[in-house]
Amino acid sequence: DAVVHWYKCDLRTADNKALHLASEKAKSKGIPLICLHIISPQDYKAHMTSAVRVDFVLRTLEVLKEDLAKLDIPLWVETVEKRKKIPDRIFELCKQWGASHLYTNIEYEVDELRREALMTREGSKKGVAVTAVHDTCVVAPGELSTGSGNQYAVYSPWFRAWIAHLHTHPHQLDIFDPPSQNPASARQTYKELFECHIPEAPENKRLTDEEKQRFRSMWPPGEYEAKERLAKFIKEKVQVYKDKRNFPAANSTAIVSVHLAAGTLSARTAIATARAANKVKKLDGGDLGIMTWISEVAWRDFYKHVLAHWPYVCMNKPFKPEYTNIEWEYNTDLFTKWTQGQTGYPFIDAAMRQLNHTGYMHNRARMAVASFLAKDLLIDWRMGERYFMEHLIDGDFASNNGGWGFSASTGVDPQPYFRIFNPILQSEKFDEEGEYIRKWVPELREVKGKAIHDPWGRGVRVKGYPKMCVEHKEARNRALARYKEGLGRD
Ligand code: FAD
Repeated sequence: DAVVHWYKCDLRTADNKALHLASEKAKSKGIPLICLHIISPQDYKAHMTSAVRVDFVLRTLEVLKEDLAKLDIPLWVETVEKRKKIPDRIFELCKQWGASHLYTNIEYEVDELRREALMTREGSKKGVAVTAVHDTCVVAPGELSTGSGNQYAVYSPWFRAWIAHLHTHPHQLDIFDPPSQNPASARQTYKELFECHIPEAPENKRLTDEEKQRFRSMWPPGEYEAKERLAKFIKEKVQVYKDKRNFPAANSTAIVSVHLAAGTLSARTAIATARAANKVKKLDGGDLGIMTWISEVAWRDFYKHVLAHWPYVCMNKPFKPEYTNIEWEYNTDLFTKWTQGQTGYPFIDAAMRQLNHTGYMHNRARMAVASFLAKDLLIDWRMGERYFMEHLIDGDFASNNGGWGFSASTGVDPQPYFRIFNPILQSEKFDEEGEYIRKWVPELREVKGKAIHDPWGRGVRVKGYPKMCVEHKEARNRALARYKEGLGRD
């Protein structure tokens, strides 16, 4: 007999609820624990997973495999082309390994939720007890509701309820122990599982050699790296987070989103670590930097709650149905200019080039480019949402969908539609000295003073830098008219 833990976006040994429960079960029965991860190229395609993310996951699996091996726990990684075949293949493996217990952490995207429900039912017919548990959020979806029993659709009251819930259920911030050592016999019984090789990325998700080198030096894999990054941030930067987090050149955010997305860091650990550094135990008291950071990590929970409660957001629909009638543009020339950082708006171009070069973009810049695409260019926000997923190393459906819905005003608790960022003012405000622009748009490095934000508008001709692809004032008026028309307002 054996117990299996099925790894998905929870690629760590520490503070992993399903893994911990699986290990406890194995220990209580005196049988081995086996870990499993399935790679499905079709799944990657369906989720628009970026090649840089796939590479990060595969490198993390190498680290995980070694860490688990130290505990005599094998990690079996297998490729299953078609996502629909995954459940059957897992049950087959359980049979082959003689395992009667399967543990996993729940994922809240609609197909994944359905799959987990189906597997729980099927498992009982196949002699495998399937346990799927809440883990990825600090507070599980469904735990918080408004006075009238509904899901919150506005962040602020939801956040107050989130804080209150954690104060009345403090154990929810308890950290789960890593798995225990397997019985020595596991090495013999499951010898071939220990010999498993982590596969190369599937063909549709392969990086070039240059990209591999670039991304690998930027994004070291694994949970220890995540822990270190978090500890360094809490020690050195969190105190100024509240004041500096909006300035892309300040390098003052934690940059742990890649780890939260791959699960090399748990949100619970993130919050518990921040709280431990605070003078007070309350989550909404003490150090302002820590409080603000906790409230940002909570946004991640918020968007997952929204996704779990309103699964239609997974189906390319705007959260606000009344926004369905907006007539979007599908201008591929403008879209390409946006993707390539060639819009002629320096702040927007810097941000898109940061994304293309690193797989990451600062939050303020994400908001600015999303607003620019949806409002200045009036291009369907779903094209931007998709481009982000295909290029971000931290691509997370709920947060990305939430962020795009916020910026395009079609989402849950969004910017009002008439709030349209001026890309030049955003630049002047959040990159006053033009440091971020100069870093990512080398053509503009020599531009002096305020012209860095708006070279064409200030009459500075820069060789090789494109003209503004739209005029903001005109674009703004066009967007307002189009949103009003779609919403049926005068
Ligand atoms: P920090 O500022 O240090 O925050 C810590 C953590 O809190 C982040 O790692 C993240 O997990 C969470 N967080 C912070 N802000 C937000 C937010 N607005 N929404 C949800 N979670 C948040 N984040 C993703 O993880 N994946 C995405 O695919 C993603 N797409 C986005 C798309 C758009 C259009 C926008 C506006 C935002 C998006 N975000 C996404 C949220 C945010 O930009 C990133 O989480 C953040 O920039 C990551 O950097 P950090 O780890 O340094 O964040």
